[in-house]
Amino acid sequence: MDELQLLIDLHRGGERQGPGSPEVTLRAVALAGLAARKSGSKLRIADIGCGTGASALLLAEALDAQIEAVDFLPEFIEVLQHNAAAAGLEKRISTHVAAMDVLPFAPQSLDAIWSEGAIYNMGFTAGVRNWRSFLKPGGVLAVSELTWFDEERPAELTEYWEAIYPEVSTASEKLAILEQSGYSPRAYFALPGECWTTHYFDPLRERAADFLAAHNNSEAAQALVCEQEEEIALYERFGEHWGYGFYIAQRVD
Ligand code: SAH
Repeated sequence: MDELQLLIDLHRGGERQGPGSPEVTLRAVALAGLAARKSGSKLRIADIGCGTGASALLLAEALDAQIEAVDFLPEFIEVLQHNAAAAGLEKRISTHVAAMDVLPFAPQSLDAIWSEGAIYNMGFTAGVRNWRSFLKPGGVLAVSELTWFDEERPAELTEYWEAIYPEVSTASEKLAILEQSGYSPRAYFALPGECWTTHYFDPLRERAADFLAAHNNSEAAQALVCEQEEEIALYERFGEHWGYGFYIAQRVD
């Protein structure tokens, strides 16, 4: 079984595939001002890199909106469709198996673009620039992204994340990228620690034993669990220096 298939297997049973929480999504919804928006018709919101739908389901429930949920993994989209049907939300959520750098939308057709823990796959700068054209003028972008919480940190930590994601930076640098890319920043906040621990790492650890057993403790399965453990250990040691930031910005023309 290849690495991607293992990754899918480890994550598809989770409520979410990255750090976050329902409280944080709702806080971002409030800061984005979407509930108060009068577009004349139902809002149209894309959730990019939606995974099994943690935020898509919540957005569909919280807002008078049509959610366009996009992920390139059909296995995750399938779970999302199942969860949406179970919650009676299937009419409000359309799903798309598509890559985030070639979105299946018309220019200026979205009121908002949502993306939690996913934009790093194409890189923050490329992502916000590419996605802008799909937003209506004045449309809202809300993304969570790996962020340094201070300027000074252990070299070991810097080296670890820069090797994995060279675009890791402080919030002020991310906000400047937004300003340079045709957006006006509206809000920023750092995700609280339980978004990593209670909502992401703990359930991941709980799934790991079954996952290893299902794969007969194969070397590849063990390597994947070890990788996750490394990230968890790094968070336990240095979590005050890094995490995810939520960035909310409005398209300006
Ligand atoms: N937003 C979800 C999932 C975050 S994990 C949550 O917060 O739980 C990142 C997601 O991005 C995964 O579901 C992965 O399949 C998806 N992804 C990664 N690269 C992608 C790409 N190039 N195009 C579309 N989706 C991608």
